[in-house]
Amino acid sequence: MASATTATADPGNADHPPRYRGRFAPSPTGLLHLGSLFAAVASFLRAREQCGEWLVRIEDIDPPREIAGASDAILRQLEQAALHWDGPVLRQSEHRERYRDTAARLQQQGSAYRCSCSRRQIASHPDSGPNGTRYPGTCRDRPPPAAARAALRVRSPAAAVIIDDALQGTASVDIDATTGDVVIWRKEDLPAYHLAVVADDAWQGITEVVRGLDLFSATAPHIHLQHLLALPVPGYAHLPVLVNAQGEKLSKQTHAAPVVAQEMSAAIGRCLSLLGWPVPGEMAGARPSELLSAAHGQIDWTKLHGRTQLTQP
Ligand code: GLU
Repeated sequence: MASATTATADPGNADHPPRYRGRFAPSPTGLLHLGSLFAAVASFLRAREQCGEWLVRIEDIDPPREIAGASDAILRQLEQAALHWDGPVLRQSEHRERYRDTAARLQQQGSAYRCSCSRRQIASHPDSGPNGTRYPGTCRDRPPPAAARAALRVRSPAAAVIIDDALQGTASVDIDATTGDVVIWRKEDLPAYHLAVVADDAWQGITEVVRGLDLFSATAPHIHLQHLLALPVPGYAHLPVLVNAQGEKLSKQTHAAPVVAQEMSAAIGRCLSLLGWPVPGEMAGARPSELLSAAHGQIDWTKLHGRTQLTQP
C-alpha cells in the first residue's frame, strides 16, 4: 500500500511515466447520493483499469457547511460500495498549516494579494458578471486593506489557460474574464477550496483528476495555481453531471437521496449503466464487489466524450 500522507508518487522518467494515481475527494456536507457515487465509481474504475492507485481525501475545510458525522458515514458508504481505497484517508482539516505555508508563498512571490471586498460589494460592481460570479479586481492594485479580516486572492494570468480534458476535449479559458482573481484564503482565516485541492493533488502525487463537470470552472484556476507553484499539472477528466427527470443536478438542494446500504448494489448497477456498461441480466443480485470486478476494463470512455449531462435512471 502506498502512503497517502507524503508525496510518494513515482516521479517517472521519459520511458516510465509515473504510475497512475486517482482520487475521490468528497466534502462532508452530506452523504453520498447517486451523483457523487457516480463520480466515485468512475474514478475508481479508471484508476483500477490503469493498475493504478485510488486515494480518498475528505475535504473538510469548511466547518460551517459540514454535517456532523458525515465524513465517517461517507467512508462507510464507500466500504459498502466495495470502493476500497489505497493508503490512509487524508483529512484536509489536519493540514491547515501546510496550506497556510503555500498561501504565504504565493503572497511572497507577489502572486496573491489581500482583499476586503464583501460579497455585496462584488455583486453590485458593474463588472462582476452574472450573479456576481466574477471578481472585478477591485483590490488588485490597491494598497493592502488595513482590515484584520481579509481574504487572499491570486492574480489571474494575462494569457488564457489551456485545459486538455480526457472526456470534454480541449478548452481555452480566460480566467480574468470568467471567474476573475480567485480566493485562496478566506476572510474567516480558513484555506479556500482552490488552494487546498491544488496543494493536495500535488502532495498526494495525483496523476489524473476525475470529477463532475460542475467543477470544470475551477480547473483553469487550478492549473494556473499549479503553474505559479511549479507543481505538476495532472490530467483532468470531467464527467457528465447526473440530473433528475426535471433536468436538475442531483444534489442536496434538489433532495437527492443518500444511498443506503441495502440499495448499494442497485446504485452501483445504475452507475455502471450510466458509464455505458449495463449489468448483464445473469448478474442480478450480485454484490457491489462482483459488479465492480465484472466492469473492470469494460468501460468505453469514448462514449462519454463531450457528454455534459446524464439523466438519472
Ligand atoms: N470536494 C469537492 C466536492 O465534494 C470535490 C473536489 C474535487 O474533486 O476537486 O464537490
